[in-house]
Amino acid sequence: MRTITGKTSLVGLLGHPVNHSLSPTMHNAAYKQMGLDWCYLAMPCDKFNLHKVIAGLRLIDCKGLNITIPHKQEVLKACNKLTKIANEIQAVNTLIPEENNQWIGANTDVEGFLAPIRKHNIKDKNVMVIGCGGSARAVVMGLNSLDIKKVIIIGRNEITLDGFVKSMSNLLSKNNIFIEGVNYKKLNISPYIKEADLIINTTPIGMNKKNSEQENVPLGNEVWSCLSNKTILYDLIYTPRPTQWLKLGQQKNCFTIDGLDMLIEQGACSIRLWSGFNDIPIKIMKSSAEQHLML
Ligand code: NAP
Repeated sequence: MRTITGKTSLVGLLGHPVNHSLSPTMHNAAYKQMGLDWCYLAMPCDKFNLHKVIAGLRLIDCKGLNITIPHKQEVLKACNKLTKIANEIQAVNTLIPEENNQWIGANTDVEGFLAPIRKHNIKDKNVMVIGCGGSARAVVMGLNSLDIKKVIIIGRNEITLDGFVKSMSNLLSKNNIFIEGVNYKKLNISPYIKEADLIINTTPIGMNKKNSEQENVPLGNEVWSCLSNKTILYDLIYTPRPTQWLKLGQQKNCFTIDGLDMLIEQGACSIRLWSGFNDIPIKIMKSSAEQHLML
């Protein structure tokens, strides 16, 4: 254990919920290795207190913040400046302290998402993204750099879905990538599942250990009967590991990817932005996170 002293600086995560988070474990392991006298805490914060908490943490010289579900878009209003990527996708997961008690908003989820998927060739492939919240924006931005053919966004709320498709389509059209929003409450999505080469779950469905197995599978169990083993399943959730949905895919011999590598990579990118150091002990971050998952 490192000793926390009067000189130790605070870094942390704001979201709701945060008690499942592996970020404190992997960040504190990295800081110890890097000799940074920082302490990372997961701090639960609801939407009513978000802006007050963010402003207050800047006033007490917090060295950096990660932002998670459900605040990645709301937090834009608390930023004085945005990085190019955060501005393009209108989602922020990292706050960097700036002069005059201000924050700069950045997004490291894009790099994080790409880390495990770069090993696969998905050029000219069909991709389905379930969910259209903050992390889905980072996912679509990442896909934009991979020369895919088409992305289908599956949502349940017509207004959010339309807004998402409109805001991302300008970006994708520059690379001739087709985007379509599908409301799964209104349309049969089996044909879309059949033609997908890669399916990404960006909803929190699967995180809640109190839910039944059926409730923990995005879009319900039945719809996945048409899934073929050529399809890669990528779940952004990293605990439980694997999720019920990835277990279902493994039973059908699909290649599956969980959210752990994304988590580690986005965390490493955040540390680079906060500390200015390039060399981040990624292996130590991953082994500490894996050890914690086994507890
Ligand atoms: P978010 O901004 O709140 O978006 C969640 C999306 O899921 C929204 O489109 C929401 O739809 C949809 N959704 C939520 N509950 C649903 C349900 N019961 N049925 C259907 N759709 C539902 O959250 P986020 O920040 O994108 O995070 C989403 C998940 O990704 C979380 O589990 C988070 O832990 C994970 N994540 C992992 C990493 C990583 O590094 N591995 C990084 C980022 C996020 P509505 O708009 O209709 O509510």
